[in-house]
Amino acid sequence: PRKHTDTQLSTTCCYCGVGCGVLLNKEKNGTVSLQGNKDHPVNKGALCSKGLNLHHTVNDKSDRLLYPQMRYNKSMPMQRVSWDEALNRTAAVFKTFINKYGPDSVAFYASGQCLTEEYYVVNKLLKGFIGSNNIDTNSRLCMSSAVAAYKLALGEDSVPLCYEDIELADLFFVTGANPAWCHPILWRRVEAHKAANPNVKIIVVDPRATDTVSVADLHLQINPGTDITLNHAIGRVLIENGDIDLDFVTNHAEGFEAYSKLVFEKTVNEAARICGVSEADIMLAAKYIGEAKGFISMWTMGLNQSAIGVNKNLSLINLNLITGHIGKPGSGPLSLTGQPNAMGGREVGGLANLLPAHRDLSNPVHREEVQKFWGGTTINPKPGLSATEMFAALNDGKLKAIWIMCTNPLTSMPNVRLVEEALKKAKFVVVQEITNKSQCLEYADVILPAAAWAEKEGTMTNSERRISYLNKVLDAPGEALPDAEIICRFARKMGYKGFDFKDNAAIYAEHAKLTAKTNIDISGLSYEILKERKTVQWPYKKKSAPGGTPRLFTDRKFYTPTQKARIHAVPDALTSEQPNGDYPFILTTGRIRDQWHTMSKTGKVNKLNQHYAEAFVEIHPADAERLKIKEGDVTVITSRRGSVQVKAKISAQIKKGVIFLPMHWGKILGSDLNRANNVTSDLVDPISKEPDFKYCAVQVAKF
Ligand code: SF4
Repeated sequence: PRKHTDTQLSTTCCYCGVGCGVLLNKEKNGTVSLQGNKDHPVNKGALCSKGLNLHHTVNDKSDRLLYPQMRYNKSMPMQRVSWDEALNRTAAVFKTFINKYGPDSVAFYASGQCLTEEYYVVNKLLKGFIGSNNIDTNSRLCMSSAVAAYKLALGEDSVPLCYEDIELADLFFVTGANPAWCHPILWRRVEAHKAANPNVKIIVVDPRATDTVSVADLHLQINPGTDITLNHAIGRVLIENGDIDLDFVTNHAEGFEAYSKLVFEKTVNEAARICGVSEADIMLAAKYIGEAKGFISMWTMGLNQSAIGVNKNLSLINLNLITGHIGKPGSGPLSLTGQPNAMGGREVGGLANLLPAHRDLSNPVHREEVQKFWGGTTINPKPGLSATEMFAALNDGKLKAIWIMCTNPLTSMPNVRLVEEALKKAKFVVVQEITNKSQCLEYADVILPAAAWAEKEGTMTNSERRISYLNKVLDAPGEALPDAEIICRFARKMGYKGFDFKDNAAIYAEHAKLTAKTNIDISGLSYEILKERKTVQWPYKKKSAPGGTPRLFTDRKFYTPTQKARIHAVPDALTSEQPNGDYPFILTTGRIRDQWHTMSKTGKVNKLNQHYAEAFVEIHPADAERLKIKEGDVTVITSRRGSVQVKAKISAQIKKGVIFLPMHWGKILGSDLNRANNVTSDLVDPISKEPDFKYCAVQVAKF
């Protein structure tokens, strides 16, 4: 291993929310090589297949956008222009729409991969100066159900525990997640802990027998959408067995009475029938939880991406609350963040319903605090458009202009054909991107080339509230600029004050100051401290311990008005699109091991494309036989919204009547036949507005 020199700089992996430390070596020929950072508390040198190949994505600049481009109408070709020309025109168009139709006629759609500083300035621009809350991100598709549930249960969007609790736990309840593929380095810690301590138990709840299941003591292969029924049944058995923490539910929580009444409405036998698992397995799961000294629940998109996502989250958090497994070592609910900086984005208020430092848009005191701090316009109390609402508003003409930043909604949004229609109808589209492969460019009026990971400095926050500093290692190619710089230049063209930041450290200092005296107070933090300590966990007040705060609620005082956690008696009614005679299968979508999101980075790496070279549909052997489908046959999946044609992968690991499509593939060489979101439903959770990617009705046929 190399020594730390000025040609070796530390950063953080830009893929999943685990947040692994990476060392980038600047080679003499201008390329970079990399290794896992052995000194990093998260990964201690290890990297997964995606992280290990990050340098290839940096070194291959063949697809990079190099200079701003513009066209005056959609029938004209794009032309190279200067930054001033591109931003002057964009500012002129935005001003025209804002003056004519009001501030809500424009919107920004950003990404959980943006750095905190980038999120901060774009949020400040929209909410503080343009006067609209129309800034949402693809985190809406990812963590918003968990955010809402944490807020309802704990009074704050706050993950209570840290990764070090993994080595202190003896029970892991993993539900709606495949961390062996999607959060690999964290999962390796769980596996290593179990290997060293055979008494450690793992329960996995998933309609698919994924790689995560291979180390499980118990796999509850439930029917899709029945998570709440299962969690309630486990809660009932815990109560029957006397395995609840009476002191906690009496003195530190509220709502237990209503909850215990509700969970007794169904017998365990009824619940087992609904969930499609055995009564004995539900009893066993409850027994394992009841016996645990340290119980960690882990989840991700299987619970979040649902029309009842918030209630699914609450039903799971309830299990930690009724057993008192929160705020103590080795225990707590641990939502696995999908993206590297979804949490950092929320810290600065980067969703349509948030204000900086988790302040509440509906709270007049909070609005005034932020408005005074920024010195801009009055903050609008009305929540802005969420991700799916933005594209619906473009479709019906209410929204005139959209600025897409660091994300590709033409692959990742549900019912994606509506997004295509929306972008066709949009009066003005700005695309801020690193790659010339994004399908959004086809609809753009202005293209702004952005610097990529390793070409800009900034910060991110991972799943355990750990903030890390990312070094700039290389210059961006051509005229590409860091996203924060692009937004600040645009804000100045709009004539707004408050965007003359000397550097990113100044943006961070402003953000940190705005968090003072809030629950996520990082007012003691600065770039100097981050550069020295590399990572710390929030809150980080002026007198915090050097590493910050690993665990929350150790005093059993929560952020609710009563300081008690709230046990919510949530209904278990499923509102997803139900299968019928025409559309008899349930479709669920998700990630595969070696690709990331819409493949703009991982798709460039040959090694990563070898795992699965093309999209596929996973189908149970009994279903395949009935439909006369053989392994590798081209299969047509059709829903009420569209269809895909992919090869069949026949596997007994999926439940009968359920099929799985990977979410990564978009339109390739003009064909969108691999794109899972042609068929997915755009139904959303009524609270979190997160789409129902994990459940819709489809038919399956051999091509
Ligand atoms: Fe990157 Fe996540 Fe893999 Fe770590 S586990 S190397 S953060 S993709």
